Amino acid sequence: MYRSGIGYDIHRTQTGRPLVLGGVRIDSPLGLEGHSDADVVMHALCDALLGAAGLGDIGEHFSDSDPANKDADSRRFLVEVVRLVRAAGFEPVNVDVMILAEQPRLKPHKAAMRANLAEILGLAESAVNIKAGTNEKLDAIGELRGMACLATAMVKVS
Ligand code: MG
Repeated sequence: MYRSGIGYDIHRTQTGRPLVLGGVRIDSPLGLEGHSDADVVMHALCDALLGAAGLGDIGEHFSDSDPANKDADSRRFLVEVVRLVRAAGFEPVNVDVMILAEQPRLKPHKAAMRANLAEILGLAESAVNIKAGTNEKLDAIGELRGMACLATAMVKVS
């Protein structure tokens, strides 16, 4: 049996903060504000997987007021979510990730993100898709005030 889940995350941009997307540190004058490393890709993907497995949302599992999560490397959230998904009797099948950021250009970083996610998820890279686009200068994302990510995940009963 297959099940699907959806995830979304958005963080405000902040000058001088690191920009980490899909576990890849990207050289950029604009980073993302947040309690953790603000990796919207990891956060959206965690929610997609939790949703597919019927396990709630990321906020229920990782508190954004917990000092242990301050500036946390969000890869460890995804590692833990994969563990929870497996413990609930599911195995990831494929994920699709859509990043929305006006700047910087993300194309040169998509392969590294894909490799990171595939490794954590235990999937072939062909089962991990990364898409990146701008918001055509529209709204908060287009005005460089934030970056967002949408993700879907498919899991199967293991
Ligand atoms: Mg987040």
